[in-house]
Amino acid sequence: MATPGVRQSAHSFRRIAHPFFTVVAFTALAATLCASPNAATALLPPPALTQSYLTHPTPTPPDTVLRVTFLDVGQGDAVLLQAPEGQTALIDAGRGDILPLLREMGVEQIDLMVATHPHADHIGGMRGVIESIPVRFFMDNGEPHTTATYRDLIAALEASPEITYLEATPRTISLGSATLEVLPLLPRGTTGHNDRSIPLVLRFGDFTALLSGDSEVRQLTHLVGLGVVPELTLLKAAHHGSDNGFTWGFLQAARPRVVVISVGRNNSYGHPRRAALDAYAATARETFRTDLHGHLQVRGFGDGSYVVVQGDQVASARAGGWRRGTEARVAATATAGSVASALTSHAQLRITVQADAPGNDHQNPNGEYATLENSSAEAIAIGGWRLCDLANHCFRFPAGATIEGGGRVVVHTGSGQADGERFYMGRRQAVWNNDGDTATLYDSKGATVLAYSY
Ligand SMILES: [Zn+2]
Repeated sequence: MATPGVRQSAHSFRRIAHPFFTVVAFTALAATLCASPNAATALLPPPALTQSYLTHPTPTPPDTVLRVTFLDVGQGDAVLLQAPEGQTALIDAGRGDILPLLREMGVEQIDLMVATHPHADHIGGMRGVIESIPVRFFMDNGEPHTTATYRDLIAALEASPEITYLEATPRTISLGSATLEVLPLLPRGTTGHNDRSIPLVLRFGDFTALLSGDSEVRQLTHLVGLGVVPELTLLKAAHHGSDNGFTWGFLQAARPRVVVISVGRNNSYGHPRRAALDAYAATARETFRTDLHGHLQVRGFGDGSYVVVQGDQVASARAGGWRRGTEARVAATATAGSVASALTSHAQLRITVQADAPGNDHQNPNGEYATLENSSAEAIAIGGWRLCDLANHCFRFPAGATIEGGGRVVVHTGSGQADGERFYMGRRQAVWNNDGDTATLYDSKGATVLAYSY
């Protein structure tokens, strides 16, 4: 897969109808983005890839690096992928002009441009790129938007017939010796734009990253349910660190070692949210934010280790400028996330949820409740701990709260007078989903204590 050059294979093009323009698409599952500028775009039959969301690429040489750069574009996303062999992919392009940043990075061509979803903070900068430097492939989720920004992008694509359109269906794309896997999307028209962000898994040897635009709880839950979320080295926090951009189930599947949040300073959305920061702190070894650190570049190595470079160093260390030994690599063998250990640290605690209240759940919020039982002989202090559902409706236990040895506490969804054994979330509507949900208890530092799914 990694060998650049012309491949003699059955080129199979067909015209397909995009909502706004007619495009040429590949029928094969895999398209190889070749390193040689003279090489024809090659199509490969998908021998090992048909079933292969989780297929590992061929082993990589030890002295190569994959660069994943989170450009500081304010409130938005623009992530540049640079394969060891030089291929580039741009996943979203922020709201404004990112050309100066790309030029600073020494980027002269984009092999693959991906619009994860058609919101302006992800596609606003694409037109300028398309009109200024060669772009070979463009991928979106096939769902149009009504904004002028979107129409501008489509106009730029229509004016660039040399760009090949790829729809975001499950497929694996080679980017030199790295691969990009497109995970399945929720069906078109069934959910909002954020939850149809194109989810991408980037693999380079044992280094694995996941980027999924502005995914929210529904899409993340969908991906976990499909079993396609791999254990990660790097996670791009979904939805700019919003509290609807993570679930505990997703983080427990992904176990990222490093999380990067692409978010603007003093943005009006309150991103990143405290609940998300707590969750990433409880799960990952380290979290970085473009609003605090500027540009962020994660350099991934085939053995799964990585280095994070910040701010001005990102551009100054562009192609060829990598100085081995100037940064401490984070070894691949370091403890991967704290969820597993946290989950077993309070084995004497148990959560159960009574989700289905008598009558109409929304009119009887105290009819649903969560119960925490302590089977040990000793009291457990839970002041400052939080109990949350999958959608991050949380209840924080007041200072001094405890569960007596052999005792229990009950958290009702509605309102009432707490008495040390009974607590009330103070909600007017039901919280716990009757069709299945996850109750997660985490301590005052945000570490997961226990999760219960039903
Ligand atoms: Zn966004």
